[in-house]
Amino acid sequence: MQTGAEETRREAARRPRWRLAALAVLTALIFIADTATHFEIAVAVFYTAVILLAVDALSVRGVVALAWFCAFLTVLSLFLTRAGAFDSGLANCVISVLAIAVTTYLSLKLVAAKAAVFAAQAKLGQMARLTQLGELTASIAHEVNQPLAAITTSAQAAHRWLDREPPEPERARAALHRVIDAANRASDVILRVRGLAKGEKPRKTRLDLNAMLLTALDLAQAEIERNGIAVTLDLADALPPILADEVQMQQVAANLLLNAIEAMSAVPPARRELAIASFREDSGHLGFSITDTGVGLGANALEHLFDSFWTSKEGGMGIGLTISRSIVEAHGGRIWVTSEPRPGAVFRCTLPLPEKDHA
Ligand code: ADP
Repeated sequence: MQTGAEETRREAARRPRWRLAALAVLTALIFIADTATHFEIAVAVFYTAVILLAVDALSVRGVVALAWFCAFLTVLSLFLTRAGAFDSGLANCVISVLAIAVTTYLSLKLVAAKAAVFAAQAKLGQMARLTQLGELTASIAHEVNQPLAAITTSAQAAHRWLDREPPEPERARAALHRVIDAANRASDVILRVRGLAKGEKPRKTRLDLNAMLLTALDLAQAEIERNGIAVTLDLADALPPILADEVQMQQVAANLLLNAIEAMSAVPPARRELAIASFREDSGHLGFSITDTGVGLGANALEHLFDSFWTSKEGGMGIGLTISRSIVEAHGGRIWVTSEPRPGAVFRCTLPLPEKDHA
């Protein structure tokens, strides 16, 4: 760690020597002029210029010492000057010393204010980095949870197939393939989330929106069945491909689906309905919606649900929708929610088409 004294030394070493030499020369010239000219000419007020120049070149103590030295030279000149009326000289001497004192006080206050602003900025930067780090850790933990759960389930399945009498190696192999897929997905997700936090651009390829929705639905299938949810699909025909990062868009759809499933866990099984639709807007944008019949959203949730760490769930992280919004916005799209008069919530997301595909 750097000590304060070390910092001061380094700081002093950075100060250009020529500025100190220039200050010394200027001080000497003012002293000579003040002493050689009549009492009536208040050359000593120019010491204020020396002080102002010294503020950037000297430490606070240095500036104060210089101010005392200038005041001393002003008084010394008063006794060395021979020409003119002494009374005028005395008045000019008092005015000059006062001017030196006031200038020193004000310029040191300015330096202190600048230092306070600098310290506040540094603190703000540090806090922003910490928040970013917290968000990054939370989002990786959130996004990797799903593939990790899939790894455990498939590895246990592989175990069971091998323990059978007789063992079923083909089925065990298939389960192990699912383990590898999920592990690859987890590492992909980490890479993308890190990229997102660093502000990297998405890796866009031509993406079939309907196929992406079906993959996300597949990922959530086990949860949908476990909760006895009825699913309706309404996918638009012949949608042109969009340019998007496939893993990231799957993350968005999977987040929305999991939220919808969780929102419906509080309503009776017979009323749990999930509707997934894709559409083309008049503006040419493509989009999809995920509608549930869950607990719905109050005014407070509507206002805050895209904020980082805002959650209404015990054990929730409040990061899924924040990431989803960053992803969609990095694609030039929009994501929003409405809570209709009917129960539940509707999340919609639209994405622009590549320029040449606009009809
Ligand atoms: P988390 O799921 O960890 O809470 P999210 O950012 O995904 O984090 O969601 C934030 C909050 O938004 C949730 O806690 C919940 O209150 C609300 N929310 C999200 N999706 C829905 C939904 N489909 N229905 C009702 N509330 C929702």
